[in-house]
Amino acid sequence: MLKRDTPKHDILILGGGPSGLSTALHLAQIAPHLAQASRILILEKEHYPRFKLCAGGLVADAEIILERLGLDVSEVPHVDAERAHFDFNGKGLTVRVPNRHAIRIIHRDEFDSWLAKKTREAGIEIREGVTVKNIIPDQDGVTVETDQGNFHSQIVVGADGSNGATRRCILPNARISTARVLEVITPLEKNGNRPHKGTDAYFDFFPVPNNIAGYVWDFPTQINGEAMRCWGIYDTNLLADEKRPALKTSLAHEMTHHGLNLEDYEIKGHPIRWYNPQNQICVPRVLLVGDAAGADPIFGEGISIALGYGSIAAREISESFQRNEFSFTGYKRRLARSALGQTLYARWMLANLIYPIKWPWFQVLLWRIAKPIVLLVAWTLVLNWSKRIK
Ligand SMILES: Cc1cc2nc3c(=O)[nH]c(=O)nc-3n(C[C@H](O)[C@H](O)[C@H](O)COP(=O)(O)OP(=O)(O)OC[C@H]3O[C@@H](n4cnc5c(N)ncnc54)[C@H](O)[C@@H]3O)c2cc1C
Repeated sequence: MLKRDTPKHDILILGGGPSGLSTALHLAQIAPHLAQASRILILEKEHYPRFKLCAGGLVADAEIILERLGLDVSEVPHVDAERAHFDFNGKGLTVRVPNRHAIRIIHRDEFDSWLAKKTREAGIEIREGVTVKNIIPDQDGVTVETDQGNFHSQIVVGADGSNGATRRCILPNARISTARVLEVITPLEKNGNRPHKGTDAYFDFFPVPNNIAGYVWDFPTQINGEAMRCWGIYDTNLLADEKRPALKTSLAHEMTHHGLNLEDYEIKGHPIRWYNPQNQICVPRVLLVGDAAGADPIFGEGISIALGYGSIAAREISESFQRNEFSFTGYKRRLARSALGQTLYARWMLANLIYPIKWPWFQVLLWRIAKPIVLLVAWTLVLNWSKRIK
């Protein structure tokens, strides 16, 4: 057995992205005694503002969770897409949200450093430039080995994203479901033949009949105050087989259609680990949040989801400290019963139902003919969950 000192911190949060910072902010809100006297420490391997590959699309649920934390995301530089188009081969459904934008787009280096600043203002310490290497829970606490030495705590929150160390260490043989994602930034003026230049967000599901279970996106964005477009392709991997074209080929196809040559731009890729109800999300003394636990399978939408995990995890942690019992046996059930767990389950069901139907006529039916049904399902099962989260 590992010999070690008394834990210095009660709660170590590994990763300072939206899920880790949201867990800390929710703890400061609902259990302020836990947020005091250095009882919580966040370890982040990068230095803010750090790069994170992400299109930065915030749905209303993300803004609602931030508002409930007393935060106003409009302080962060952003671009608002007034309309979101969900298409098959360029034609489909247009979504407007009454009295607000459809999607707010932020740049993740700016958003995450803003959220980290708010977390520090709430009295929580974040140590930057610390890379976690190993996590060893036992009956007395958890040892976290890093490139800056060992840390000890009562419990650990694994908030280190899709490629993080926590899940690998605590659940080394667990099955994972991972999407492939590519992203490209292009100048605004090169945005070819879009009818609503610069202001609308587009999702096109044309790759599905070719075994790419996902879509190509084209969002407005801004980099250092300059208006740009963010293009990308998302593939859940639900139709993975050797006949799939390369992701790059499908993205290039759509960009060419809009007068852009993919080869002229830098392509970046990163996986997204998505939610599967069968997956384990904790072991005694360690629980997972955000991408480490699982993002939305349909769209790979993970920012609002990561913020929501923070709320659920904070309640689980607060109650476990009250009981002085850290098995976290109720965490998965708590998530499943919450509004976040319900939307994640619904999205997992929908992804598994819709993506395997590869016939083009089905995509036409979905996005062009069955619009009222699609809107109703989206409004009730996919969106609007944050108001019900406890
Ligand atoms: C190309 C792309 C586009 C996307 N677009 C969108 C979008 O438009 N809208 C949306 O809602 N979601 C989008 N997502 C998903 C979204 O980025 C994630 O779901 C979200 O970032 C998850 O937040 P998180 O806090 O769980 O993880 P992360 O944001 O990945 O944060 C994890 C943190 O942990 C740190 N870390 C990792 N390993 C270690 C370690 N060993 N030691 C210490 N620290 C560590 C990292 O530096 C990072 O700061 C996109 C993802 C990709 C890849």
